[in-house]
Amino acid sequence: MIAIDLEEERKEIVRRYRRLLRKSKPFLKSGDAKIIKKAFHLAADAHKDVRRKSGEPYIYHPLEVAQICVEEIGLGTTSIVSALLHDVVEDTECTIEEIEQEFGHKVATIIDGLTKIAGTFEYGSSQQAENFRKMLLTISQDLRVILIKLADRLHNMRTLDSMPRNKQLKIASETIYIYAPLAHRLGLYTIKSELEDLYLRYSERDAFKEISNKISETSASRTKFINKFIKPIKDELTKQGFKFSIKGRPKSIHSIWNKMRAQDVPFEEVYDLFAIRIILETTTEREKSDCWQIYSIVTDFYQPNPDRLRDWISTSKSNGYESLHTTVMSRSGQWVEVQIRSKRMDDIAEKGYAAHWKYKESGKSEESALEQWIGKVRDMLGQIDCTALEFVDEFRSNLFHTEVFVFTPKGDLRILPHDASALDFAFDIHSEIGVKCIGAKVNQKIVPINYKLNNGDQVEILTSNKQKANEDWLRFVVTSKAKSRIKDELKSDKKHIAEEGKETLLRKMKNLKIESNNETYERMRRFLRVDTQFDLYYKIGIQGITNQILRDFKEEKSTRLSKRGKMLGALDAKTFEKKLKKAKGDGNDMLLIGEDMDIVDYALSVCCNPIPGDDVFGFVTVSEGIKVHRTSCPNATELMSNHGHRMIKAKWTSQQELSFATGLKITGTDRVGLINDVTGIISRELKVNMRSLAIDTDHGIFEGTIKLYVNDTRHLDKLITKLEGVDGVEKVNRFD
Ligand code: MN
Repeated sequence: MIAIDLEEERKEIVRRYRRLLRKSKPFLKSGDAKIIKKAFHLAADAHKDVRRKSGEPYIYHPLEVAQICVEEIGLGTTSIVSALLHDVVEDTECTIEEIEQEFGHKVATIIDGLTKIAGTFEYGSSQQAENFRKMLLTISQDLRVILIKLADRLHNMRTLDSMPRNKQLKIASETIYIYAPLAHRLGLYTIKSELEDLYLRYSERDAFKEISNKISETSASRTKFINKFIKPIKDELTKQGFKFSIKGRPKSIHSIWNKMRAQDVPFEEVYDLFAIRIILETTTEREKSDCWQIYSIVTDFYQPNPDRLRDWISTSKSNGYESLHTTVMSRSGQWVEVQIRSKRMDDIAEKGYAAHWKYKESGKSEESALEQWIGKVRDMLGQIDCTALEFVDEFRSNLFHTEVFVFTPKGDLRILPHDASALDFAFDIHSEIGVKCIGAKVNQKIVPINYKLNNGDQVEILTSNKQKANEDWLRFVVTSKAKSRIKDELKSDKKHIAEEGKETLLRKMKNLKIESNNETYERMRRFLRVDTQFDLYYKIGIQGITNQILRDFKEEKSTRLSKRGKMLGALDAKTFEKKLKKAKGDGNDMLLIGEDMDIVDYALSVCCNPIPGDDVFGFVTVSEGIKVHRTSCPNATELMSNHGHRMIKAKWTSQQELSFATGLKITGTDRVGLINDVTGIISRELKVNMRSLAIDTDHGIFEGTIKLYVNDTRHLDKLITKLEGVDGVEKVNRFD
């Protein structure tokens, strides 16, 4: 038992309260101090006799959270009051109505928001997702809720020591999962890296200890190094009359740890261990040119790495971050990152949104990128048609994404997540444009809708009223706006198709006098291998249904051979192989192309045009019998991985008199008589039928495409060898 000196404690509470007032004083309006005092007394009273896990009086916590709000985020009176009261409604008798009465509507809304998100998150659970979603919903009410929540979390992380181990791990992982990325996105860099470091301190204790020890061990030599490094820069900047300060400090433990892991190197080999920051006092009019001026001075002394120039002063990051970064080579052969920015930019970088807002009030910057982001969050929150887990996934992926900067035809800047496609861009402009997008013109060149945007692309969307969204689109859009809109489209589309399918089915059943009752439908679902009635209609809507299939269904002939001797209704490989064995005798479950034509309905697929000799497989399609593909067909991986149960073994019969269409591409240097020689070999010597021939010559380069019929790959190989022997021909390739 530790003896507690209550008198001393009371003094300490007052000391902390006075410190808070001192820090907030510069921006308090008249009357503000009184409200803060009232909030402090209410909180101190409500939490009276309550202690934190550490044994300290509880009121220390709200006082510290308020202090962080002021000092580290730059928030004002409303936030200080809310921070002081943030745990009152949740933990004490005090109600939200009382808060509203005493402190007004605004404070009550913020505290209500904070109370709602008070629950903790459990990694991977949907409860966590639900809580997180609730938290984000408060963004659309008042961003201060999130900022105070971050301050709350930061203080809890700073005092995590007194928690039991399992709680430590839980709180730490929530922090790295949600709060650190959120702080990053809001531009609160200092808070973000402190949260990350604290996470590491509790979750990877050894690594944390090792790295922090090494940092302090190397501190003396580093200071020496930094001083030597900045000396010439300092001298020159002073000579040129700049007002500035230079800070040199190691990168955060978390980022060093990340680098050690990513590059699998020891501490000593992490090459950019520290960053130098040059902060410049200048006017907003001059800051950009001054920063570049300093860049030029720095690179006069040290060679920059051209790949590591980051210009966030011409276009700020979407969280509002502005700075000019370069990495230069020091005289001792170490890379050093140099960050150049004005005092204003530094404030924004340190304090994020609030600082940004402050500068905005004084007339700088219009609709900023950060506000655009908050607008997007609001957009996303508006789309409630997804599960909480989906939502969190979406949101987190948007948190981590770096951005790509592109332009509209009129030159307006649009910021999209890295990996966004032309289609994302179309949806970003307007969802109606997205839905009708058929392609885009990027820097005057036509590109497909899945084109991945690059920085600086100027994008014009091409649309058509005939265009319709399809499932494929979901594979190359990354923005949540595009995804959810496409899903909506597909849903309504599917419903439409199913309705058409239902009509078709009912009509045909009536014609064939098939009774429509539950039992029929159940049998039919089994017959066509679908699970639900909706799937049945949808399938028919997509593929149609022939009278033959319905007749087969009616007569239950699906398991026997039809009167034409061909197999119908086989929908997976197993059934098919069984039937094949039955028809051809045991041990014969392989499709022989060329031979089995009379008993099996098959066709060579048009996507890869297989010819005898190619490695092939059969694929049981739903309505067109079996399709034979080359194993190298571009569609093969898709088919094999998603529909493995519908793949059947297939090979060519040896005696093959049929001919198959294929294509050859011939390139070489042009000369008189070359075309004649090439066509001569094809038609005269090898007796091959040519379907078409197209020849292009450009400045002496010859390129021909020939479509022709061959018997098998041996035949084709022979032809290729012959053609390659023609004088002037460089390369002969098969194409599909
Ligand atoms: Mn709290």
